[in-house]
Amino acid sequence: MPEIAIEPGTVWLVGAGPGDPDLLTRKAERLIRAASVVFHDALVGPGVLELVPRHVRLVSVGKRSGRHSKDQKAIDALLVEAALAGERVVRLKGGDPAIFGRATEELEACRAAGVPVQVCPGVTAASAAAASLGLSLTLRGLARRLTFVTAHARAGEQLELDWAALADPQATLAIYMGKAAAPTVSARLVAAGLAPDTPVVMVENASLPEERHFSTRLDLLPLAARTALGEGPAVILVGRSVAALACAGRQVADTSPVVPARDAG
Ligand code: SAH
Repeated sequence: MPEIAIEPGTVWLVGAGPGDPDLLTRKAERLIRAASVVFHDALVGPGVLELVPRHVRLVSVGKRSGRHSKDQKAIDALLVEAALAGERVVRLKGGDPAIFGRATEELEACRAAGVPVQVCPGVTAASAAAASLGLSLTLRGLARRLTFVTAHARAGEQLELDWAALADPQATLAIYMGKAAAPTVSARLVAAGLAPDTPVVMVENASLPEERHFSTRLDLLPLAARTALGEGPAVILVGRSVAALACAGRQVADTSPVVPARDAG
């Protein structure tokens, strides 16, 4: 693989993908090798971090959740400072940097400081989850819309989403950071008219060896999320596209008795 050069004093925001190092793009891998310093999130998989050469300084800047904007500002400042010191900076972010990845803040901070900054995309969690399940997030005639939505509310704030728009039976919802808000998501979507038996799959640690899937339905999502999910990151897929699992004969429900297996019909 030909090497790639990073100009000293510049920054790359690089998508690390969902965890499996084989899901890293070739470009991301080259950039990691060309860096002098890599700042990474907690969500970047250990297998990906192993690809960082020993001579490259590796700095963890991640907290799993509840990151405040002050922390984000500190990260922005670190990137800018390193670039202004002439480093070849890679900012490695889980999944795709442009999806719920605070990329805008980092891009703007670099640009405001006159630091050239570029983005290398990555495989987002929902894509990895769908791939593992062997299903499509869109479905001709049935799931014409795919919505990426975060159900993470800022500390002390209510989760304000356009529930009426989200409750579209012809859409697939890929809900990021939705574990804590599962009861709200379920209640509000049903109240907005989405069928209580709409199929749901939760995928934890997509693409990693610890990956687990749980099949449930919208009205039972709160119970399923509370009892089945562990500490790993999880993406929640909602919609008829997920029902294709039944047709494919895939067994995705965990053996846990509290999570009802989906109707195979
Ligand atoms: N930029 C990332 C998302 C960051 S937000 C991306 O494109 O994937 C963090 C959320 O992403 C987690 O709370 C979880 O909902 C989801 N996520 C990230 N990695 C995941 C994984 N390996 N498996 C399941 N969900 C994941």
